[in-house]
Amino acid sequence: MLPQLYLRRRLTLGVAIVAIVLANSAAFAKPPAKVYVVLWFDTEDYLLPASDDAALRLAEFLSREGIRATFKVVGEKARTLKARERYDVINALKKHEIGYHSNFHSVQPSPAMYLSTLGWDDGVEEFDRREGAGRADVERIFGQAPSCYGQPGSSWGPQTFGGMRRWKMPVYLDAGSHVSLDGKPHFFCGLLTLYKLTHTVRTDLTGESALRAAEDRFQGARQTLLEEGGGVVSIYYHPCEFIHKKFWDGVNFNRGANPPREQWQAPPQKTEQESAVAYQTFESYIRFIRGFDDVRFITAREAAELYRDRARDRQFEPQELRAIAAAAGNEATFQRRDDYCLSAAEVLWLVNQFIAQQGGKKAQGDKKTSAPIALDQSPLGPAEAAVALENEVSADWSQVVRTAADVSDLMTKQGRVPTTVWLGSIGVPPESYLVSIAGVAAKLLAGESAPEQVVFRPAKLTAAQYVSDDGPHLWGWVIFPPGFRAPRMMELAKRQAWTIKPAVLGASEGE
Ligand SMILES: [Zn+2]
Repeated sequence: MLPQLYLRRRLTLGVAIVAIVLANSAAFAKPPAKVYVVLWFDTEDYLLPASDDAALRLAEFLSREGIRATFKVVGEKARTLKARERYDVINALKKHEIGYHSNFHSVQPSPAMYLSTLGWDDGVEEFDRREGAGRADVERIFGQAPSCYGQPGSSWGPQTFGGMRRWKMPVYLDAGSHVSLDGKPHFFCGLLTLYKLTHTVRTDLTGESALRAAEDRFQGARQTLLEEGGGVVSIYYHPCEFIHKKFWDGVNFNRGANPPREQWQAPPQKTEQESAVAYQTFESYIRFIRGFDDVRFITAREAAELYRDRARDRQFEPQELRAIAAAAGNEATFQRRDDYCLSAAEVLWLVNQFIAQQGGKKAQGDKKTSAPIALDQSPLGPAEAAVALENEVSADWSQVVRTAADVSDLMTKQGRVPTTVWLGSIGVPPESYLVSIAGVAAKLLAGESAPEQVVFRPAKLTAAQYVSDDGPHLWGWVIFPPGFRAPRMMELAKRQAWTIKPAVLGASEGE
């Protein structure tokens, strides 16, 4: 090769390498949007043995297709599989991710009923007492800790989230209307919550025309999500749906009924032909979805990783704290920041820590800017409703700083927002406290000096709008006794709106 030609070749190659590097760095900065499909199965029928075969068939089909689904298993279903020595079913399900779907599902009283008369702490305790053993059985029988929980029917209660925190279970996975944040994944009580999602796209299991309609809906969901930069589609089934004519529990526990075990009846079964159509419809739908390059099936645990809370364990510098305090405004609600979000409870923690620091500084005669503040927990909301603040009250600066130290201690030890914040002998709701100290913190962080007096006014927990009011639309499940309502429990749930915030989709790894 002549030296000149060699040089020119080298130059061309160099340009090509630079171009490739640029293309890669652009891709690294903004990965192509993806649609993540969480496919989950409520695996619950412990009466009709044919439902065991249905779970086996679905698990094996998905494994052959290279798809991992999430099977939320009922405690009694896990024990029944073991008693029937269906190790083939257990082993096939083990290849997927295992979740939890309550201990006995529809035996009365279901979770919403027994939680409806309890407060927060006794509710968490009771949920753990009734459901904890089933969770442990599922872990023992399947050899993996269940990644998620979702309630039987619409038998939802906020104290469940406290129980899940105790179990170190990272995801709430179900479909319902009790809490909803714009139909998107969010955090509630510090747990990733995939609940009322806009894109919940199932096909009826009745053949061609149902399949075509679902494919169109999936296409629509996919396009919308890609335009939004990616997101989640939720698809759920029950293995028993493929082989029964009626749900197993409706046959036995309808409208509050609770017969003894020896009277439990198996539900009527589909014909072989009907079941064949159901499987064909489902399998075609899954193959259709799998055909898109920009669609990926994920499990609940993978969702928790993709939507990892980037506010957790972050150090907040004074400049960032100043922006957060200033954005708090006149209401208690979540904040969207650059690549993370903060719940109202987390805003309270950060701002309160800053105010509490001011006391320490005075004692040490330290005038320097404050140290960064870490967010090392996701505080829960208050356990009870606060007494309303009718008129404004005020406290002097010394009292506010002493109160901040007390609130910091309570939030550290109890892991939650106080029900009442005490300014000496004056109690104010935490909403009012947050709004006032955030205003003061914003000024201090802007270089102003501490005020002599701080005024506390009535304020609203605006985030409570994302938790449904009690009403018949929440409790339509046929297993509830007619007329079941849970006003006190939904009020308790609204107090946990202190913890709600959007979940932000991060870049997936290895892509
Ligand atoms: Zn169920």
